[in-house]
Amino acid sequence: MALALGLGSIFNHSSHPNVTYSIDAEAECIRFTTSRNILEGDELCIFYSHNLWFEDNDVSNESFQNHETPISNDVASPDSTEDDGISTDLFPDDLLPFESFKYLRDDGEELSNGVVATVDAWVVDIPEPRETTTLLEFIRQTGLGMPDLQHLKRVRKTSLEEGGFKSTLLLSLEHPTVLPPNLPEPYISPVPTSPARNLEEVVLKSTIWPTVYQPRRVEKITWTYGRIRWIRAGIQRVVDEARRAKEMGEIPIASYVPDEWETVSGLAARDTRNSTNHPLRHSVMNLLRQVSNAQHSPPESSDNMTRNGQRYLLTSRTLFTTHEPCIMCSMALLHSRVKDVFYIYPMNQTGGCGGLSCVPGLDGVNHRFSIWKWTSPVDLKDALEVDPQLDA
Ligand SMILES: [Zn+2]
Repeated sequence: MALALGLGSIFNHSSHPNVTYSIDAEAECIRFTTSRNILEGDELCIFYSHNLWFEDNDVSNESFQNHETPISNDVASPDSTEDDGISTDLFPDDLLPFESFKYLRDDGEELSNGVVATVDAWVVDIPEPRETTTLLEFIRQTGLGMPDLQHLKRVRKTSLEEGGFKSTLLLSLEHPTVLPPNLPEPYISPVPTSPARNLEEVVLKSTIWPTVYQPRRVEKITWTYGRIRWIRAGIQRVVDEARRAKEMGEIPIASYVPDEWETVSGLAARDTRNSTNHPLRHSVMNLLRQVSNAQHSPPESSDNMTRNGQRYLLTSRTLFTTHEPCIMCSMALLHSRVKDVFYIYPMNQTGGCGGLSCVPGLDGVNHRFSIWKWTSPVDLKDALEVDPQLDA
């Protein structure tokens, strides 16, 4: 641990610091750098850490580092067994206070509208069915077409009109460079690009080429009593923040990202479109800005950096929000690599997490996150009501 002496020891903390610092181990010094223009009279502040033992000196509309315990109990468990359960015990699935919004089928993700994705591969007819075993042994020894074609059977038998059948051998995606002698010219035939995930796909894909049945392993998600209480606290937190937002004349929408799932601190943000007169100050966007500010202040951590210098803001983290995020916010969450999103109120006309659209389920997006809709009763529902056409 390094202890800053001299000027370094007198910086105050701010959640919106104007000074960043980095430790230069070689020179045995801490380098302080201003992160924005400093006006005369501004106090220079650094960011200490997320878990403060004192009251933040600039708790503002958008910053709630050290939030008091929830003042209300709108999402209290209706069942005392939930409160009393041992933290590490598994919570019964049928009592979960939320449900998953499933945007991917458990099986057969690639199969959309019954259309099988195919790719061209090289095949060759087998003139003598007796040679099939020898040819399969040739494939095995040369590894031809592997691993690209391992989800397909190597021989297709086609019935012939005049009786009997024709056998065709699957060779490779690229033109085969070596073949056993006495075979006719290979030719191109379409084959499915992936294994069959369910029986429906076995039938459908095998009309194109015999395809291996390989059901996707569905990972069972389990929840502990401790986790459920943590989630309930997160939901309560956004309800409280949204109610305060309304008291301050804002749209009653709020978001919250806990630090770690064991702790209750973290970052929360409200919608501030009204007070800022800025149309994009949605609670999720405000929260992401806060997370970014917080992450840029401590010394650079190489763990958070990817090769191209891109920093993801919410990797492996859970976001709670009162209203289903709009498409812009859902895309921002996707770009932040969030893991789980919990929301209370669906926004069927504008939501990007299953309402109007489901952003993490779109073709071409490079990240998926889990969406959970709170189903347990919440008081104050009317108080947090917003225009159904509003982008949350
Ligand atoms: Zn939004």
